[in-house]
Amino acid sequence: MSTCKRDLQVSVPSFHVDKAQDKGKADLSLWSKGTIQCWQQFWISSSVLFQSQWRKFLQLFGDDDYYLYVWDASAELSTELQPPLSISFLAYKWILKYKIQPGTNEPVDFQKVIQTAKVVLINQWFLTLPLLHINYYVKKMNHTMPDFSELPTLQRLFFDLTVFLVIDEIGLYYVHRLQHHPKLYAAVHKKHHEWNAPIAIVFTYSTQMEYLMTLLPVNIPAKNCLWFRKGPHIMNPHIVTLCTWYALVHLRGIKNHSGYHFPWLMWPSAHAHDFHHMTSNSCFGKSLVLDRLHGTDKAFRVYMARKKETEEQERLTQISNKLK
Ligand SMILES: [Zn+2]
Ligand SMILES: [Zn+2]
Repeated sequence: MSTCKRDLQVSVPSFHVDKAQDKGKADLSLWSKGTIQCWQQFWISSSVLFQSQWRKFLQLFGDDDYYLYVWDASAELSTELQPPLSISFLAYKWILKYKIQPGTNEPVDFQKVIQTAKVVLINQWFLTLPLLHINYYVKKMNHTMPDFSELPTLQRLFFDLTVFLVIDEIGLYYVHRLQHHPKLYAAVHKKHHEWNAPIAIVFTYSTQMEYLMTLLPVNIPAKNCLWFRKGPHIMNPHIVTLCTWYALVHLRGIKNHSGYHFPWLMWPSAHAHDFHHMTSNSCFGKSLVLDRLHGTDKAFRVYMARKKETEEQERLTQISNKLK
């Protein structure tokens, strides 16, 4: 009898729990369906809105793909100069604590910056602009100019950007290592390394040969170059994808050469490329994935471990001084 009672006592609450769990699952499923529907509605209505804004924007240029492809892209490329130039002169007290190589470029050598800006402008106007024109006319001749009238879908945009990122990461790592080859370094890449402690404007400061070599991995997937014209459609992106890609590449370049490590900024930190400018024999890639694979980040890892140790010791000394 007592056993039956115990069974009953056990089974009743378990029945309630099962029922409550079922109800919970049903609620969760209803909530998920509702959320998905909400997002779908939001996505459809925002797509319509973006599309109508895009059409208005196109009308500004009279639906002319030349202005869109050449001048829009070159207007964005001209941002290689102004924002990094402004960042290069940043020297507020609150920002100096994030400096990777404290004491360097304080203040920045103005004459050196002018010389650097001249080289950046020459590369832009005498290399980027003609290349944009060549690519534009090649696309027109080959009838491979993408249709700009419709915006790309978000899925397509992300897919294209992911492909660009992978090609760019692999291409830049090996091109950069090649530029450090003793037979090429002095003629091709040494100029970029004149700044042992880089500032933002240095990110496109290079010889013309290096500029062209570096443009290849950045632009091959994005520009539908001659040798890729019969390639898959992902090699021929919409102008919006192209401009988004350029914006991301520029932001990354400015961040990597800024000379500052901001803990809240996205991975990877500017530390790695700054260390590359300091030592010239480590951290050739952008994300350090290939550096880890080839062991070219060993010195950097040792340096960071020591830096962390020193910072920790300083912190403990400060605490013990306060307690005295
Ligand atoms: Zn650099
Ligand atoms: Zn280098």
